[in-house]
Amino acid sequence: MTISQLEIIDRQGQNLPKIARINEKEIITPNFMIQPNKNDDYGLFLNLKRKYDLAFTQTVNIKLCDAHKILVPRITNINQTKLLSEEYVHDDFRQSLSRDLILIDPSLEYLSGRAFNRFTQNSDLPILINRYINNLKKSSDPSNKDIEKRYNGFVNDLVNDAGLRIQFIRDVLRIEMKFKADIFMPPIPMITNKKTLKLSHEINIRSVEVTKLINPDIECANYYLLNKQALRDHQVLDGVIKNISESNNKIHVVKFKYLDLEANYLIDERAMYKRFLDEISYINSSNDKLLILLESGNQLFPSTVKGFDIVSSSYNADSDYKYRKGGGNKQSYHYYYHPSMMIGRPKHYIETYYDVNSTLPCYCPICQNLKDINKIKRNTWNYFVRQHYLFSRYYEMKYIHDAYKDNSLTIGAIDKLKRSKLKNIQELI
Ligand SMILES: [Zn+2]
Repeated sequence: MTISQLEIIDRQGQNLPKIARINEKEIITPNFMIQPNKNDDYGLFLNLKRKYDLAFTQTVNIKLCDAHKILVPRITNINQTKLLSEEYVHDDFRQSLSRDLILIDPSLEYLSGRAFNRFTQNSDLPILINRYINNLKKSSDPSNKDIEKRYNGFVNDLVNDAGLRIQFIRDVLRIEMKFKADIFMPPIPMITNKKTLKLSHEINIRSVEVTKLINPDIECANYYLLNKQALRDHQVLDGVIKNISESNNKIHVVKFKYLDLEANYLIDERAMYKRFLDEISYINSSNDKLLILLESGNQLFPSTVKGFDIVSSSYNADSDYKYRKGGGNKQSYHYYYHPSMMIGRPKHYIETYYDVNSTLPCYCPICQNLKDINKIKRNTWNYFVRQHYLFSRYYEMKYIHDAYKDNSLTIGAIDKLKRSKLKNIQELI
């Protein structure tokens, strides 16, 4: 075993919690993985980690389409200071590289729709994605039908051409390595049917092989990218569970895109997701695996309780897709994550709460030090709510960790959800 490979060094219970060591970094589970979409999202995380330990928040997931703008200036800076002086200046990013686990998510789901534009600002892209985007951009405003047709062509090329597939995998993993990934994530498409399930399985297997050639010291995860559709299709979900359960691979990453199981009408999907979590719970209690759930949104808390070791969300709990139409929410005041309601609340609600109670509904140092909430400008508010969000998730991870040790986790977690605004989500435990 090399130092870069996963080692479970402290398994205090059968399931949670444990300490995983990868690349000489020790990660205590459960761990909240932040997903910065912008440069200052990441700066904020680094800044907070300088002042506070936040051991249950020690993992970072950056999308391939965002990685260039977030990481290249920082990596360049490190290389330059290295040239100028042997004595390093204090550098939050360098500290982070030696401490926090970094994943670069290929996030190919964006290629299948209008969001393909997220890739265009980026100069570090595999040839296949560059070609795909350039073809789409030949038309000034490609129709949804054009995009769908091109995307199907892109997937079919990967299905039919083994050489192209290997080249694509190699290109993507090399870029992930350049961006300092601690674990490789295979470039898999969204799994919507048996064909894309099979392709993902194939890419997962080949990625492990390619990893051995380009850097055998890095561990390559198996990755499954799903959406709500997968919760209506037993075959797809069973295929994913079977792969996780039977694979020799130790690290498995699952992402359910745009999933909010709090929605009343998703009764069957909730039942399916619960079954999925039961399987995850069983797999994690009987194997030395590391299970990661990305963009877990409202499912974050119960999914961690049931057995995911690392769970991610963006700073707005993955709810940004609701605001995308109509120009996005750039001009707005971000929602404040209410720790006991477990959902985001608008600024005016929090202002009223503050006026009545003379405090915020949170004991984190960021909230406790905040003064004059009514006078805060938008940028300061948006920075504040994101710092507070990191703390809130940190406390949730710590709660799960401690409650597990006390044998009070299931009852405590159900009680916490009952008192929250996630009434439907409690069914998942
Ligand atoms: Zn707070």
